[in-house]
Amino acid sequence: MLVHARKIIYPAYRRRQAVVAFNTINAETTLAIARAASALRRPTLFEVSEKTITYLGLNTVVELVRTICDDPSIKASLAIHLDHAHTYEICVAAIKAGFTSVMIDGSALPFSQNVKLTKRVVDYAHKHNVLVQGEVGALKPVVKGARLVAASDLMTDPAQAREFVAKTGVDTLGVAVGTLHGAMKMFHKLPQIDFSRLNSIHQLVKIPLALHGASGVPAKDLKKARSLGVTIVNIDTEIRLSYLTSLRRELKSQEHEYDPRVIFYPVIADIQKTAEQKLKALSTTYGTR
Ligand SMILES: [Zn+2]
Repeated sequence: MLVHARKIIYPAYRRRQAVVAFNTINAETTLAIARAASALRRPTLFEVSEKTITYLGLNTVVELVRTICDDPSIKASLAIHLDHAHTYEICVAAIKAGFTSVMIDGSALPFSQNVKLTKRVVDYAHKHNVLVQGEVGALKPVVKGARLVAASDLMTDPAQAREFVAKTGVDTLGVAVGTLHGAMKMFHKLPQIDFSRLNSIHQLVKIPLALHGASGVPAKDLKKARSLGVTIVNIDTEIRLSYLTSLRRELKSQEHEYDPRVIFYPVIADIQKTAEQKLKALSTTYGTR
């Protein structure tokens, strides 16, 4: 069932649990993620990026997610969140279309402009009963030997994070503490989380934190991040890699199949398996602190 994002984020925050926020890009990934959440009865977030809005259309993606989540076969609460919007206008359009949580990413702007843009979105969103995620610091990859690491000078500064939250009134905060976006990191030694930085942010910022670029992060690190205030764990790359690996295998093994549905049944099942593994990895952390 599709619910308001606050019904997923705040119970998790209060109980010191973490929810997974999966990026969805089309019908196959939406079906797989909803089925995974349903199979494990796990409240879960759908994230939609600007790229996916361009690909599917804003109303189409909202209705797709809503229709799939509201199917009686789906026995989990799910919500829809806008990921990394870069303009006020996209946030407003998303709120009008039915998103109950939006992220305005002004992290590439100077701090004062990030505050100004984010505050403007918060003012509009809160009038419409919608949550806002902001971001301070940026997840920028730098190659260091065999390891792809996050540029440390761009990581979230704890004092700045506190000031940002106080000045903007955001509901959740995306933090840059060592993880990275994208698939490139999967082909290097994985980046490591700066836990002491995360702990400092957690001490100063009393709202749910979002860990972006969490694909590939081992379960024990996700568990530790959760114990240091991470309520939302963003997973995009692992879903996409699962999708394409499976699709390539099926196309190769069923070279003479001309019904795309026959190709896609196992692909959807594989994406669901990947999503379930991620949900299970986090479930081991439930109620442990
Ligand atoms: Zn992100």
